[in-house]
Amino acid sequence: MRLLFAAAALVLAASPLHAEDSAMRASANEVRAHVEFLADDLLEGRGNGQRGYDVAALYTASHFRSLGLEPAGDNGSWFQDITFRRASLSGQQVRHGGREVKGVRLLPSVLEERVELTAPLVFVGYGLEAGPFGHDAYAGVDVRGKIVVAFNEQPDLPKGTNSDISAHLGSSRVESAARHGAVGLIVIGSDRYVRFHSRREVTGWVDAKGRSNDLPGDLKARMVATDDAARNLFAGSGQDFAQLRAAAKSGKRLPSFALAGTMSVQGSSTWEEFTAANVVARLPGTDPALAHEHVVMSGHLDHLGIDESRGGDNIFNGALDNASGIATMLEAARLFAQKPEDARRSVLFIALAAEELGLQGASYYVANPTVPLDSIAAVVNLDMPVPLYDFNDVVAFGAAHNSVAETVAAAGAEIGISVSKDPMPEQAIFTRSDHYRFAQAGIPSILLFTGYGSGGEEQWSAFFKERYHRAGDDLTQPINWTALARYAELNYRIARRLARETHRPYWYEGNFFGDLFDPKGTRRTVKP
Ligand SMILES: [Zn+2]
Repeated sequence: MRLLFAAAALVLAASPLHAEDSAMRASANEVRAHVEFLADDLLEGRGNGQRGYDVAALYTASHFRSLGLEPAGDNGSWFQDITFRRASLSGQQVRHGGREVKGVRLLPSVLEERVELTAPLVFVGYGLEAGPFGHDAYAGVDVRGKIVVAFNEQPDLPKGTNSDISAHLGSSRVESAARHGAVGLIVIGSDRYVRFHSRREVTGWVDAKGRSNDLPGDLKARMVATDDAARNLFAGSGQDFAQLRAAAKSGKRLPSFALAGTMSVQGSSTWEEFTAANVVARLPGTDPALAHEHVVMSGHLDHLGIDESRGGDNIFNGALDNASGIATMLEAARLFAQKPEDARRSVLFIALAAEELGLQGASYYVANPTVPLDSIAAVVNLDMPVPLYDFNDVVAFGAAHNSVAETVAAAGAEIGISVSKDPMPEQAIFTRSDHYRFAQAGIPSILLFTGYGSGGEEQWSAFFKERYHRAGDDLTQPINWTALARYAELNYRIARRLARETHRPYWYEGNFFGDLFDPKGTRRTVKP
């Protein structure tokens, strides 16, 4: 009897809907319809610059129209057309102290067809900034107009440091160099790393102002170098390269100092251009005091397209990555549109291009926003739920840093979903989807994954091993449409709370990312 009673009490406690719950309910058929369309072979894997992507963009805009939303792209349209440039290197010469250097490879440039550069060199350790942990590669050196040289490793952070911080550091080297006014960056890596980059094409957006995400700031040249090549650059600096190398391998603190001699770099790139569009819609808010603010729901519309070089099934349908995220966004938009009075703030829905090329649609949007960035209160990003099981927990990437954490917990409690801690810190998910670009612009931003409970761990590991970024991420997977609807409903409930609550989400006081991305502290107003 006791046991039975306990079980009954549990069911009651988890029972989602009480009388005053006025949220709309998500529909399994709605999300299923979107995924089955977007992940069909006819959509050809929604590759950027390919026909299938454009069809998917039109489909999304068409649904926005049917829901009665407002176009919120460029020039009163649904779309924000982005020009991408794919660059490959057609020649290079690198000299140091007048002598040709072997083992330094220039990366192709999307901004400069011909690079010509002569500048002094400055060694900056890891080239990373983590001031609160005593690592600031740029403290005490002036790198303006110079070429900075850094190891590809990362400094050791104290045990127990939030894993998002090392994920962030690993992806921040280029931005740090640009922010400090360097004109060139050389990253010293393993032979394998240098070989990989030597073969690489580089794709980046270029905007009407002549800017690109690939070479931010004044950066003109990115290079990679082997240890052998780097050793010569340290000659005459009075520092022992072998010692620095060993220290870098074990994550020890490294000094920053000027190197001897100047380097001259010449190179040329050949270009190929293509376009892909972000698709943007707005549901106007109903509260005159808050309607100028926006809650963003975003998801990437692109996937990897068709790989013509492969035989057999060569269509990368991206059913979970990320047709299911777009389906979630469209379903949330439908629920909002049915009860628009819930949105005191406006809600902006953005289907983003080129996430698979390195979060590029998001970085373009942040550089060319269609509403003031200051007006964006929070971002709920939707990327790659794995709805193959009846999940009852989620992981909220990014939430630990700002008050959206509380919103996620409250919205989850409404429908019996708990929040778990990140079970895959090694995947560095915080930096690997579009919400990160919005966070870098100072906006509290999150992404939910379905959790490891209820059999999720097995599903995730099989997905990563067998189908992630492969042709098998398609409609033959046993997608649990009820679970996907539940994921959609949770995200809708989170966005609905963010759009209704009077206070704006804020970074937690003293949070690493709040201090870094919102240095003026304009988003650290504490809840009244
Ligand atoms: Zn992906």
